[in-house]
Formats: sequence, C-alpha cells, structure tokens
Amino acid sequence: MAAEETLRQAQKMEAVGQLTGGIAHDFNNMLQGVAGGLEMARRRIAEGRAGEAGRYLDAARGAVDRAAGLTRRLLAFARRQRLDPKPVDADALVAGMADLIRRAVGPGIGLELRLRDGTGSVVCDANELESALLNLCINARDAMPGGGRLLVGTEEVRLSAADIPDGEAPPGCYVAVSVSDTGTGMPPEVMERVFEPFFTTKPQGQGTGLGLSQVYGFVKQSGGLVRIESAPGRGTTVRLLLPLHERMGAAEA
Ligand code: ADP
Ligand code: MG
Repeated sequence: MAAEETLRQAQKMEAVGQLTGGIAHDFNNMLQGVAGGLEMARRRIAEGRAGEAGRYLDAARGAVDRAAGLTRRLLAFARRQRLDPKPVDADALVAGMADLIRRAVGPGIGLELRLRDGTGSVVCDANELESALLNLCINARDAMPGGGRLLVGTEEVRLSAADIPDGEAPPGCYVAVSVSDTGTGMPPEVMERVFEPFFTTKPQGQGTGLGLSQVYGFVKQSGGLVRIESAPGRGTTVRLLLPLHERMGAAEA
C-alpha cells in the first residue's frame, strides 16, 4: 500500500510538473507581451511622442486579458467551476471568433467557415464554448506544422438512440460545431487517451494536455457529446454536439 501511495504521489507530481512547465511557458509569453508593450510606450513618451503610446498600451492590455483568460480557464479546470449557461447563437459565436482563430493559427493555414444558416441556439457557457473552439483550432494548427486547411462549421443534426450506443446523452436534435484539419491525424492509441487531463504528445513547454480535457468537461456539463474522427496522415475532425435549444431563422432541418 505504501508503494502504491508513493506511485500515486509520483504520478501527481509528474502531472503538476507537466502542468506548470506548459503553462509557465504560455504565461511567460504573455508577460513578455505586457513588458514589451509597456517598454515601447515608455520610449514613445520619453521621445515626446505620447500620441503613439496608445497602441502599445492596447497591446499590453490585450496580453493581460489573455493571461487572465488562461488563469480563469485553469481555475475552472482545477475547481470545476460552475458554468453560466445561457442561450447562445452558435453561428454568431463562431463567426465572432474567426479573426481570433485566424491570428492563432497564422498565415500558413487557410481558415474556412461553413456556417449553416439557421443553425439553432444552444444553452451553454459562451466563454467556455469559445475556449473549446480555440483549443480545437490550436490543436489543428499544431497538427499542421507545414500549413494546411482548417474548416470550422456548424450544422444541425438529429441523433437517434443508435447514434448514441452508450447512452451518454439523450437522442434528439443537436447543434454540431466541428473543427477539421488536414494535419497529421492520430493513431488509435493516442485517440483513446486525448481527453485525459495532462495527456499530451507535444514536447514539454508546448503541450499541457489540458485542451481536450477542457473541451470534454465543458461539453459534458452542457449535456452534449464529443466525437472525433482521425487517422494517421488523414487529418482530424472534432465535433462538439450540443443539445439544440431553439431553431433560429426560417430553416427547418
Ligand atoms: P495539448 O494540445 O496540450 O497536447 P490536448 O488535450 O489539446 O493537449 O490534446 C492532447 C493530444 O491529442 C495532443 O498532444 C495530440 O497528440 C492529440 N491531438 C489533439 N488534437 C489533434 C489534432 N487536431 N490532430 C492531431 N492530434 C491531435
Ligand atoms: Mg491542445
């Protein structure tokens, strides 16, 4: 029993080490963004060009917001914070994220949005859905180091009992938010473990293994399901299926 306890402790320390290693790197980048912006603003002011300082202060402010967002997500993860579910228009949320996604993935990756007109609203925490979407897009980026195509789409789907063999959610209408990439794909032994907190195949400092565990936790708490299709060399599609709340517009599926 003592040996088991020691092992458990070691596993926990390993997890904590991976966590702090990965996050510290992200956090450092954000702090550098803050420091860089403040330094540039200080120089402009010293040169008597205070009017040009504003955009550097804005950049610093943006980095502060990103750092705060990261700690908020971490706390939500650690504490399983209660979400604040409200009706969210999935198409509008995805469209509103396009610019941020484009920035996050960089110019080597082409982003295409395929939003079905009339996709309904879902009830969930909008911030968490945004985080989930961003996590999926960043994973897609990491899977396409040489560039590629990223498709983010929404559609309404009807799931029958046969589509949900293990009964993890009730049959009915769902809004699917999907992220597809033309990247490396995953072998089955990776697919099996992707939702585990701290599971990552990325080098230390690049992966935290918290992305898909956030996605999974969020979707579960919102009464939905996650489906992944992937094969080595054939890209990956992750679909978040969230219960349809209300149909929008005129389209009827
Ligand atoms: P992280 O991105 O920090 O490694 P995630 O939980 O987001 O953690 O992902 C866990 C692992 O799942 C990744 O390390 C990677 O091996 C695999 N993975 C996730 N998304 C993709 C994808 N789109 N293409 C290929 N592999 C992926
Ligand atoms: Mg990730």
